[in-house]
Amino acid sequence: MDPDRFATAPERWTPASWRSLPARQMPRYPNDAALEAVEARLRKYPPLVFAGEAERLRLQLAKAAQGEAFILQGGNCAESFAEFQADNIRDTFRVLLQMAVVLTFAARVPVVKIGRMAGQYAKPRSSDEETREGVTLPCYRGDIINGPDFTEAARIPDPARMETGYFHSVGVMNLLRAFANGGYANLNKVHKWNLGFVQRSPSGKRYADLANRIDEALGFISACGFNAAAPQFNETEFYTSHEALLLPYEQALTRVDSLTGKWYDCSAHFLWIGDRTRQPEGAHVEFLRGVSNPIGIKVGPTSTVEDLEKLLQILNPKDEAGRITLISRMGRSKVRTHLPPLLAAVQKTGRTVTWICDPMHGNTTTTANKVKTRSFEAILDEVIGFFSVFQEAGLRPGGVHLEMTGQDVTECVGGAQCLTEADLAGRYETFCDPRLNAEQSLEMAFLLAHELTG
Ligand code: PEP
Ligand code: MN
Repeated sequence: MDPDRFATAPERWTPASWRSLPARQMPRYPNDAALEAVEARLRKYPPLVFAGEAERLRLQLAKAAQGEAFILQGGNCAESFAEFQADNIRDTFRVLLQMAVVLTFAARVPVVKIGRMAGQYAKPRSSDEETREGVTLPCYRGDIINGPDFTEAARIPDPARMETGYFHSVGVMNLLRAFANGGYANLNKVHKWNLGFVQRSPSGKRYADLANRIDEALGFISACGFNAAAPQFNETEFYTSHEALLLPYEQALTRVDSLTGKWYDCSAHFLWIGDRTRQPEGAHVEFLRGVSNPIGIKVGPTSTVEDLEKLLQILNPKDEAGRITLISRMGRSKVRTHLPPLLAAVQKTGRTVTWICDPMHGNTTTTANKVKTRSFEAILDEVIGFFSVFQEAGLRPGGVHLEMTGQDVTECVGGAQCLTEADLAGRYETFCDPRLNAEQSLEMAFLLAHELTG
């Protein structure tokens, strides 16, 4: 490890140094011996990602900071063991590719694809408890910690779930790698799926023009004789990410890269710190400062300039480009007022960061029937607000971060399907927050493309 890397830190970093600091949102396991046994096994298992891949992603994120790439990060709020099936993985992967084609065309730069997949199993919660019909139980914290069933037994944190989470992540990762490199990501095929969407979608005509322009561009490339077997047309790079919340799990998958001697959290390429665990003096920040992966920090309405500056100093003392992605999640009503001072303060530090927009987490509402939802219109409006803040600052936005699925669920209201609150009961399947469904996700990509092309 580079001896200067943490020269400004009070103490030496180790994969376990977070343990002496306050850690929010962490489960209390009932049995230490069982926890330690699982951690010991996880420490021996093969890593899910290779350091070189994380480094490659970092360089691409650095490009996005300069407006030379656009990030599309998306997937479930919470992956679940129950949904561990090829169809679910394939459908989400496919929709992300479809969105990426549209955004690549519009943004005229490579789109960096990052799934909230293969490890997004731990959830921060606003309340430690949940009450239903007069019964109060500990809250569900994600499948890697406890179970979603509303029973006392299911809600007890079980360390064995970490091992199950690891093996599920391995399975998802394996299929993603196969899809990315095995021909499934063929550009013409992905574009044909988009044409299918445009023909099928109730408001398809709105997007026909853009889809036709992409069609013409592909026809032109083909006529020019570009090699149809080239990897650019048949393969894609696809990265994984999750919130680095459950630190015993993240620590157990943290390894030294034999080529560089640097530490990497090999549970995913990209890890982020949530809005509830980003205290500069907290355990999550301590853990992430020592791993070399590119990392994200959620930036919300309660983020202060002071904390943000501290976090950038702690997490990226050498100001390496691509190391930090700031994920703005202000809400539609605050993005235009709260983001500009933070953006200006970061600009003033002269540090390189990549800013992306999470238009989901500041726009969650609850219906009269107590169902969590988000409106398509609010989500779109927040991204438009985010883009305009960047435009006014003379900068290019780095990308978007969405909660979405390839399934035809009914969790977010609005969009071309005009889903109403009454429709939510139909297919409300999320284990945590409401996601854009396949059509809403594609529609969002076309609308953002429209914004990007002006
Ligand atoms: C999330 O991304 O699922 C999440 C909980 O976000 P935040 O930390 O921004 O609330
Ligand atoms: Mn969420």
